[in-house]
Amino acid sequence: MYCNECGTAGDPKEKSAGHFWIELLLWIQLLLWAVTASIVLTLRGDFTATLLVATAPLSYSLWRVFRKTKVCSHCGSSSLISARSPVAVLAQRVRD
Ligand SMILES: [Zn+2]
Repeated sequence: MYCNECGTAGDPKEKSAGHFWIELLLWIQLLLWAVTASIVLTLRGDFTATLLVATAPLSYSLWRVFRKTKVCSHCGSSSLISARSPVAVLAQRVRD
């Protein structure tokens, strides 16, 4: 793969999509919710809100696991093209 940002040609790194801190935040709010509000809601027999809050971090985590993006191993840019594409070949020729 050829990097459009720094011109590195080589094997890209795999990176999870999204951000770890968003995932963490969603799990923390789920935990806080579970401890406080769900007790009240469960006593009232209403599970809808609990389910809604529980699905947010779960789906975000799953989305991160399955949606991996390839990034440049040198600068971390996701703007990668095939090293054999005419643009990459031309850019490397200009550089050399
Ligand atoms: Zn790069």
